[in-house]
Amino acid sequence: MSILEKFWRSRSTYSENWKKCPGCGEDLRIEDIPKNNYVCDKCNYHMRMPIRDRIKLLVDEGTFSEIFQEIIPVDPINFVDSKPYTQRVSEAIEKNLAKEGEDGNILINEAIAVGKANIDGIPVLLGVMNFDFMGGSMGSVVGERVTRLFEEGFNSKLPVIIVTSSGGARMQEGIFSLMQMAKTSAAVMHFKHSGLPYISVMADPTTGGVSASFATLGDINIAEPGALVGFAGPRVIEQTIRQKLPRGFQRSQFLLEHGMIDSIVDRSELKASISKLLRLLMVDRGA
Ligand SMILES: [Zn+2]
Repeated sequence: MSILEKFWRSRSTYSENWKKCPGCGEDLRIEDIPKNNYVCDKCNYHMRMPIRDRIKLLVDEGTFSEIFQEIIPVDPINFVDSKPYTQRVSEAIEKNLAKEGEDGNILINEAIAVGKANIDGIPVLLGVMNFDFMGGSMGSVVGERVTRLFEEGFNSKLPVIIVTSSGGARMQEGIFSLMQMAKTSAAVMHFKHSGLPYISVMADPTTGGVSASFATLGDINIAEPGALVGFAGPRVIEQTIRQKLPRGFQRSQFLLEHGMIDSIVDRSELKASISKLLRLLMVDRGA
């Protein structure tokens, strides 16, 4: 590192204005990151994307209207660890509102937002998970919103697209969170009787109960480049089987090579790819 570089890095403004790319280590201007859809323009590393930006990226401007936002968490097992579950939920809501600012269309009050939208003029039902809300964990609310989204798709004959990003089941809801795996899987199977497509987009990370239920049940399963998709994390598996895992294990490229997903799509191509798939899969429905 040159003396000049050291000088720049020591300045307090450095951390305010620049961020290191986790992929290649290049310095990225913080203000440019959202403009590039949270993708490094040097190495194509896909960073995690805030939920509102994700919705904006995928849908026609101003067409997203959230539904089922009135479904909010309860505390079914009166869970307390270092603090009560209800307090954790309130803090997560506050954190998300403060971070994203108020937005009339999207209420960030859980780990998923679901709604109606248009993608290149095609009406769809869209769910986007919110990793910033308690690690995108699936409790009763995520399970219920996903289930209702598929029921709505079945009843109003609309395709369903869900972008997942989750650490897994929400342990603070105990067995109730695990039940959501069976419930959402059943909802997907019921929806498939409609003959309409369900496209699953797995963003980094999609793990635990979400990967083991609706995230991997799409008619088309897409992952973003470099996304970690799996049930248990690589460290837990290594400790359990006492073996070193192959390079790139559970990353999207590895999953594609082993037939776990159908394709890897760059974020910049995501909307166009989904729109193309919808047109192909719904050709007899006039999409
Ligand atoms: Zn990079």
